[in-house]
Amino acid sequence: MARDGHKYIFVLGGVMSGVGKGVVTSSIGLLLQQKGYPVNLVKVDPYLNVDAGTMNPTEHGEVFVLRSGLETDQDMGNYERFLGRDLTPDDYMTSGMVYQSVIARERALEYGGKCVEAIPHVRDEILRRIEAAAAYNGSRVSVIEIGGTIGDFQNALFIEAARVLKMEHPNDVLFVMVSYLPTPGTLGEMKTKPTQTAVRDLNSYGVQPDFIIARSKEHVDEKRKEKLAVWCNVRKDRVISAPDITSIYEAPLNFEEDKLGDALLDALNLSEKRRASLSAWRRFVLAAGNEKAPEVAIAIVGKYFDTGDFVLSDAYLSVIEAIKFSAAKLKRRPRITWVNAKDFERGKPAALLGKFDGIIVPGGFGESGIEGKLKAIRFAREKKIPYFGLCYGMQLLVIEYARNVLGLADAHTTEIKKSAEHPVVDLMLEQKKHLADNKYGGTMRLGAYPAYLKKGTLARAAYKKELVEERHRHRYEINPAYVKQLEDAGLVFSGMSPDGILMEIAELPRSAHPFMLGTQFHPELQARPLSPHPLFTEFVRAAALRRRKRK
Ligand code: GLN
Repeated sequence: MARDGHKYIFVLGGVMSGVGKGVVTSSIGLLLQQKGYPVNLVKVDPYLNVDAGTMNPTEHGEVFVLRSGLETDQDMGNYERFLGRDLTPDDYMTSGMVYQSVIARERALEYGGKCVEAIPHVRDEILRRIEAAAAYNGSRVSVIEIGGTIGDFQNALFIEAARVLKMEHPNDVLFVMVSYLPTPGTLGEMKTKPTQTAVRDLNSYGVQPDFIIARSKEHVDEKRKEKLAVWCNVRKDRVISAPDITSIYEAPLNFEEDKLGDALLDALNLSEKRRASLSAWRRFVLAAGNEKAPEVAIAIVGKYFDTGDFVLSDAYLSVIEAIKFSAAKLKRRPRITWVNAKDFERGKPAALLGKFDGIIVPGGFGESGIEGKLKAIRFAREKKIPYFGLCYGMQLLVIEYARNVLGLADAHTTEIKKSAEHPVVDLMLEQKKHLADNKYGGTMRLGAYPAYLKKGTLARAAYKKELVEERHRHRYEINPAYVKQLEDAGLVFSGMSPDGILMEIAELPRSAHPFMLGTQFHPELQARPLSPHPLFTEFVRAAALRRRKRK
């Protein structure tokens, strides 16, 4: 079943969720890649959604769109950022996707009259998908993260598929369990018991972990490593301490120091060991963590913040990371503040935004907070505060301009007001049918599309090239009927689809504003630690300049 000589590392979570399986997976990927082994990283999401596109970001964090257009989980964003390359749709699967293929095959009579069952049919579809991902360009090692926690109902079939792979290829498959060692305040002592229990649970599936990544507040000491080794039946040198860190990007450096990469290669019988070349990565981590770098204050004006008492910055994860990468490149320390757009509707004055060096309105859907965002954009334009609009943030930039500069008081997007007198943002033609048929899943304009950049514009100067490719996720577009009018009033459409129909970037000339720019696409999805996104870099540069001038 498995590819010849290919190796598989399954990453599973014990004890509880949210302890950093994704970061472990990404770090293992980076380490092996930097040691000269091509890797591919796979995320398994056990939920029944066919993709992550139909989930509210407050449910599940940001929807990360691949180059292909597949709407995936935010972990895929981390994988791409760590590996520094695009992932493919084969690198992502959900239970919904797996079942959909099996059911489609059943409806097409492809099972030849058999009773179709979870085992073997669903399990084999999982294995087929793991193989398809492993076939990526010379990949030698697949690192596969199984979402959820050991003991969940939903991920059991995936663990079962992994068990079968291990049984058939005992020397080519490893299990890494990411666990958590709590230190209850009343005891003041780090406890190993929950991890022991999690291993026992995993054993009941017929799976034994080869490595334990022991996450905890502090370093795991030798005594506790010994305890875990004995009680969890894992070699002591394969119990790896992973204390809390301030930045996820430190993780691969720490793991390399603890020789995790070499230990994994040993366990996989891959003998050509090399040191991982991590110097560029280390430089980035140092620059990003430099507390002494001058600050630049960025406000993100959005709406997906409040889930109960928590502020859910996960909803805009890629945006935050993109700011960090560009700031590190410019040797600045970003201070990001969440501003709830609804507050401006409740009467908070937009002038409060004057204390920031730059303002971002990120992607979004629907009505809530929209008038607040428009107020923020107007303030940024009039007070010449660097502004960067991402997708919805670009559409709203155009609406604000139409309303307050062109004087089209009823300018709006038909997403919110179908009867708007001036629908400057309108549903794309092909979208009308999708919505009429209630076809919401996977039907937006998704994934990478090319755009041509106009000479002499901010965008062109930032990218330093004429043709770019960026990832999209939207149903609405700037209404072509208003383009001329907007341009006559001073707005510049500096990026366009090759056929000239879709406006991809809107900006004000530098003579009018230091940085007022919006993109119909999501540049944050292609920002990487070692290759920050040029538009984010120009935005942060403009913000840093404002900071300096204000002083
Ligand atoms: N709601 C807008 C649209 O569908 C913007 C989408 C977004 O910001 N991703 O076009």
